[in-house]
Amino acid sequence: MADIIDYTALSKALSSRRFLPEIYDTAEEAKAAALRIIGGKSVGIGGSATVRDMKLAEALQANGNEVSWHWLAAKEAKKAARDKALKEDVYLCSTNALTTDGRLVNIDGTGNRAAGMIYGPYEVIVIAGRNKIVGSLDEAVERIKRYACPPNARRQHFDTPCARTGQCHDCRISDRMCNVTFILEAPTKPVKAFHVLVVKEDLGL
Ligand code: SF4
Repeated sequence: MADIIDYTALSKALSSRRFLPEIYDTAEEAKAAALRIIGGKSVGIGGSATVRDMKLAEALQANGNEVSWHWLAAKEAKKAARDKALKEDVYLCSTNALTTDGRLVNIDGTGNRAAGMIYGPYEVIVIAGRNKIVGSLDEAVERIKRYACPPNARRQHFDTPCARTGQCHDCRISDRMCNVTFILEAPTKPVKAFHVLVVKEDLGL
């Protein structure tokens, strides 16, 4: 199917909000760009299937970068890894949805990714595949609830209704993942450089 996304317009929309967009044809190109931006800096990583599938943590560790990522930590060390990630030089993650007018929409269960993107390190890098691009805020939430939450719940062995049915039931259980919904209209003041690397391939959930 032809890619009908107007990446030039998306890039302009992101720039108008003070994000630093870069558009790449492939995940490999975006990976090289992320490694170039990071250089020798330390990196905290938020929960992200995109980052996992791109094997960015492995590449960073091979380069000698300090990496804090709770997905690599043992169960009893995950909280410490999440906390440390917020204090590294760069915060690396994806976004659950990216609107064509340049807003980043996310749902978070624990809040560490929200903290990293909103009040984390001075530099943030978000990598977003084309499957994350949507036309409106309503579509963003719909996409997250339909395509991100159910597989995320299954991955973490959470007994949520969406894990069983594939649909959101607006649950109230303790394993609920949709505890925080946030829209980044623009980078917050503490974040001095907020990179958004858009990839013309499907990536992550
Ligand atoms: S509110 Fe509950 S059922 Fe709905 S997507 Fe979130 S975790 Fe799943």
